[in-house]
Amino acid sequence: MPAIIVDIDETVLDNSPYQARLIQTGDSFDPKTWAEWCELAEADAVPGSLAFLQAADALGVTIFYITNRDAPSEAATRKNLKALGFPLANDCDTVLLKGEQPDWNSDKIARRALVAEDYRILFIAGDDLNDFVPGFKTADPAQRKADVAQYADHFGKEWVLLPNPQYGSWEASLHGRDFSLSEAEKRVRLQSRLRGYSVPN
Ligand SMILES: [Mg+2]
Repeated sequence: MPAIIVDIDETVLDNSPYQARLIQTGDSFDPKTWAEWCELAEADAVPGSLAFLQAADALGVTIFYITNRDAPSEAATRKNLKALGFPLANDCDTVLLKGEQPDWNSDKIARRALVAEDYRILFIAGDDLNDFVPGFKTADPAQRKADVAQYADHFGKEWVLLPNPQYGSWEASLHGRDFSLSEAEKRVRLQSRLRGYSVPN
């Protein structure tokens, strides 16, 4: 049986209102405010995703949603997907959240393997390298770029990577993956990486 695996956030659901709110309030990502946003089930669809997945569904392809939203957000996430018209299978659980099972951790390997037991995975779509292969944990952006080169043949074929300029695992490499830094210190490091534009005084 053919299947497609998609990530949810910034792949099929557009959470830019949440990101905009962080800018407005000056806050940074917080699991609590994120869960509150997820609970609203108000995300819009990423352009193109809905028509594409509906077409695949009509051709008999099962769509699996593998997301690092936390397990308690499942009902709201399903509600959001359903309201927008995303295909949701009736006969099996196709919305697989982090922590639903003990080994369903953030690297997504166990969940992909579970799908692969019964389905032929046609391709995977996501907005972060972690949606395809885990382990891009270098603190050096140049090394990260070099590391991904070995997978170049997959991209644009069985792996479709949507650009996410708002956030992602790339961001941590820009501050050296130093999670002990304060938000202000991280911001200084991130700003030092900006090229070609100076903030006017
Ligand atoms: Mg995502």
